[in-house]
Amino acid sequence: MPRHVLILGGTTEARQLAGELVADPDLRVTSSLAGRVAEPRLPAGEVRIGGFGGPVGLADWLREHRVDALVDATHPFAEGISRNAAAAAADTGVPLLALRRPGWAPVAGDDWRPVGSLAEAAAALPALGRRIFLTTGRQGLSHFACLRELFFLARSVDAPEPPLPPRLAVLLDRGPFTLDGERAVLREHRIDVLVTKDSGGAATAPKLAAARELGLPVVLVRRPEPPAGLPTAPDPAGAVAWLAQLRR
Ligand code: NAP
Repeated sequence: MPRHVLILGGTTEARQLAGELVADPDLRVTSSLAGRVAEPRLPAGEVRIGGFGGPVGLADWLREHRVDALVDATHPFAEGISRNAAAAAADTGVPLLALRRPGWAPVAGDDWRPVGSLAEAAAALPALGRRIFLTTGRQGLSHFACLRELFFLARSVDAPEPPLPPRLAVLLDRGPFTLDGERAVLREHRIDVLVTKDSGGAATAPKLAAARELGLPVVLVRRPEPPAGLPTAPDPAGAVAWLAQLRR
């Protein structure tokens, strides 16, 4: 029987990892997606879509499908599923690795304003500008709904749902993005503040360079604390090495 790896996905790294692992005939690879995006980019290998039903549902799934190793390759801001993964791994004894791309680091010329949450980002905005580029995804835009005087350009893969700020334009798009493209968006919409989560990774980093070039402040939402005490890899290669070590 091939050993069964479950990848909790929804990120570029999760897809890359599945793509690498399916080449190994001794592994069965299943990726799990939350089902938030209408037309997700599907990873190689088996795919299941939808919630498990909390930590207990995930633990049941691990047992039922005889999972030998669990890789939490979800987005650094997907706090709930990462907590559930830690609890289910502790319950079942299935080894768990957190695959977390590093956060972004500022360089000379950046004007970053770190905040602890989307609510704090919203509170900071009126003092910073009038025309805001929101790149925090379609969830959580309700935090900005009370800012009636500000114009928002919100970019997301699928359309956001109410409550939303009244002066809102939506840009449906998904990365990777280019510096030229990001510069054009900032100029065309006369943006004066960028709001982003500290997602890390190259695919969405060009907006930071574009903001730096144009001298714009960036309200950067800090990452939530990940579950403590887990082995962690910064990239798919690190996860492959962890799995190889488990098999030895
Ligand atoms: P979340 O708040 O951490 O999770 C909420 C619930 O959604 C979980 O309890 C779980 O439901 C289900 N879920 C989440 N990820 C899942 C997965 N990979 N497979 C199966 N069920 C999953 O998650 P979120 O922040 O809404 O993110 C949802 C997904 O989008 C994640 O997979 C993440 O990698 C991806 N994503 C998130 C962000 C972000 O900014 N948060 C950005 C890009 C991509 P049950 O309790 O029923 O199991």
